[in-house]
Amino acid sequence: MKEKFYITTPIYYASGAPHIGHAFTTIFADVISRYKRLKNFDVFFLTGMDEHGAKIAELAKKTPQEFVDELAEKYIGLWKALEIENNDFIRTTSQRHKNGVLNFFEKLKESGDIYEGFYEGLYCVGCEDFILERNLVNGLCPDHLKKPELIKEKNYFFNLKKYLPVIKEKIEKNKIKIIPESRKNEALNILSGDLPDFSITREKVKWGIPYPFDKNQIIYVWVEALLNYITALDFSIDFSSGEKLKKYWPADVHIIGAEINKFHTIFWPALLMSVNLPLPKKIFIHGLFTINGQKMSKTLGNIIDPEKLAEKFGADAVRYFLISQFPASEHGDIKEGGFVEKYNSDLANGIGNLFERTFTMALKYGADFKSIDEEVKKNSDEIIKKYEFHMENFELYESLREVFILAKFLDRYLNDKNPWTLYKNNPSNQEISKILNSVVFGIETIIKMLNPFMPEKMKNAEIFLNKLKNKEIKDGDKLNLFPRV
Ligand SMILES: [Zn+2]
Repeated sequence: MKEKFYITTPIYYASGAPHIGHAFTTIFADVISRYKRLKNFDVFFLTGMDEHGAKIAELAKKTPQEFVDELAEKYIGLWKALEIENNDFIRTTSQRHKNGVLNFFEKLKESGDIYEGFYEGLYCVGCEDFILERNLVNGLCPDHLKKPELIKEKNYFFNLKKYLPVIKEKIEKNKIKIIPESRKNEALNILSGDLPDFSITREKVKWGIPYPFDKNQIIYVWVEALLNYITALDFSIDFSSGEKLKKYWPADVHIIGAEINKFHTIFWPALLMSVNLPLPKKIFIHGLFTINGQKMSKTLGNIIDPEKLAEKFGADAVRYFLISQFPASEHGDIKEGGFVEKYNSDLANGIGNLFERTFTMALKYGADFKSIDEEVKKNSDEIIKKYEFHMENFELYESLREVFILAKFLDRYLNDKNPWTLYKNNPSNQEISKILNSVVFGIETIIKMLNPFMPEKMKNAEIFLNKLKNKEIKDGDKLNLFPRV
């Protein structure tokens, strides 16, 4: 039986069209999913939409449902355009999600961790979260530049405090493994502060799932959203009966962005512990990025539409571009103008050129694809080991770096061995075929490594290479993998 691997992205908040940040997280998870599938894992890759909350009701010109339906179409269309192979797409307005949430709340109530209270605080609709006075900048939420509302209302609270010491210990001992270390420290930092119990319902918000034990309350959108990771697996009250839940839970990794650390590393484990469900094994938290040195924002007009980018450069190039900018564990900057340059230098003149000239020579000089140079084999094997190490640790940027080390080595090897001069001096020199066989071997290693990143291009390269080996390529046939832009 195949080993399972359950990977998720956050469900994206349906407050606007998808931007490059959503594309980044989803591509990141997709690359890991594809890598794991190639390693013969039974992968379940979940993404979806978070469709409730005050902000959405506020934004909707028609009904909130119509508003989120339209947006969901956009997201689904983008994932197709970017070759995302998710196994499921969960929407929080779907009946199956609502069923799962209500089942979860039955369990939560049984646990005795819910109590009635009264909340008074400043609420930022943009964050869908309460915000402390001391975190305001000039009276505004620093992330949304909006004045928070003073809310005074009856809420139901979750006894978070009860679980904090255990969570702290689990994070410290990597029982909940938070990657990278800097985000783990961030979570521990939050835990060392005075973290209050959080309310799991809202009185004034109307767009959401009604709280089953008090009709005047709606379930807090954040709690409900976190539950998507198990409602997509058909969470039921008797959770031993759900086939999918039994098979895939706990998640092997949640991929999230740094802005939602607290919800995933503290609130989510506490809720799971309350109903006796196992905790996610790993949480990978990627850094946030700026566009051309500035925070992404509608007002600045620097939001890049990933769909347009894919139309212009192709999905594979966009996938490559986003992952190869900076290590995901750090914050980084996307230079919009740098796209063309990077495409031409890394793909057109780099990988594309190496493939093209090797295949052309292999055809012209009649490579037999038999004996290969030990030096090339050894080098390729060593690099693939490093690549796999990085992939297993979600270091995709670092994995790509290994691929390019091999590509540069092969370029140098070709130049040093100089098969074209050897051919000119003596076309029947046996050495020529061996040189080209060796580079082709290295290229096959590159194809294997790049496959999760650029699936379509690597498939084309593989098909071309197989034809070449079977002598089905005619003189003048070109692969033309990455035409210059
Ligand atoms: Zn805010």
